Amino acid sequence: MEAARGTKIVIVGAGMVGSTTAFTLLLRGRATELVLIDYNKEKAFGDALDMNHAMPFIGKTTVRAGDYEDCAGADIIIIAAGAAQKPGETRLDLLKKNVGIFEGIVDNIVKYTKDAILLVATNPVDIMSYFTWKRSGYPMNRVVGSGTLLDTARLRYLISEQKNMDPRSVHAHIVGEHGDSELALWSLTNLAGMHLEFTEEEQHQLHEDTKNAAYGIIKAKGSTYYAIALALDRIVTAILRDEGAILNVSTLLEDFHGNNDVYLGVPCIVDRTGVREVIKVPMNDDEKQRFSASAKKMREQLDSIEQFM
Ligand code: NAD
Repeated sequence: MEAARGTKIVIVGAGMVGSTTAFTLLLRGRATELVLIDYNKEKAFGDALDMNHAMPFIGKTTVRAGDYEDCAGADIIIIAAGAAQKPGETRLDLLKKNVGIFEGIVDNIVKYTKDAILLVATNPVDIMSYFTWKRSGYPMNRVVGSGTLLDTARLRYLISEQKNMDPRSVHAHIVGEHGDSELALWSLTNLAGMHLEFTEEEQHQLHEDTKNAAYGIIKAKGSTYYAIALALDRIVTAILRDEGAILNVSTLLEDFHGNNDVYLGVPCIVDRTGVREVIKVPMNDDEKQRFSASAKKMREQLDSIEQFM
């Protein structure tokens, strides 16, 4: 795809996720200018230089390390900065640490632009997205979390392996928290509109394998970054090309099956405005109950960081 003229994407946090996303966007020609901002300036500088040496093979794109003033004029700002969980540290400790990091990041971004779309990947992504929305003062449609797009991809891949099909032809949805309380909407799983039936045991196994995929990858090699980079590229493309694609991103819920005032992954129409519309997909009673439990868990975590918003 040819990049639209003058498309600028800023990535805050050039760690494994941020730098892999930058490289993915570069290879796929999504932007004319990519700027990397990291607390570790050397890392961002090194990544930019390394990618500059790829230009003779793929053609010119501006890739450089920068600072927050570079957020001015950005179409999309991807935030993938954060601290990793340390041994003995609870998830709540990590959450508080990442909230501290995000206070600085979001305040710096809004100094230079109020017009970008903010795309959040840092975990816990639903909480960090809500925090970014509240702290930035941006409208909710322009603060998007990667949500359950990656989890949905993982489920589609697993089903495609079982059915020996192209994963792009498998339709399935994971909704809720990007984490332990997420759920699959089995009634919406289909191939070419034909409903796919799974036994309870199969459903259980597919859900477990989807939910626990990250743990397995982290155990094997420390972190996950290839598939999330493509998930972020997918969201970026839907925005820049004004696609109106349906993607399971994290967004603010307003009476979504009775759930309000949390960010969670649900099917959304994504276009140049960000999240144009949340799709109120049908859910059975069990799914509604589990989705509400996921929302309740998010609300409790948000209450614990209320003083920072
Ligand atoms: P990483 O440790 O490799 O990178 C984090 C980067 O953030 C580092 O380069 C660090 O220097 C930088 N950073 C820290 N504080 C900063 C600040 N104040 N300003 C600017 N930069 C700062 O971690 P990673 O593997 O790249 O993961 C990044 C985040 O993405 C984590 O929270 C991880 O859990 C999350 N993640 C999300 C998904 C998803 O589906 N949403 C998938 C994979 C990873």
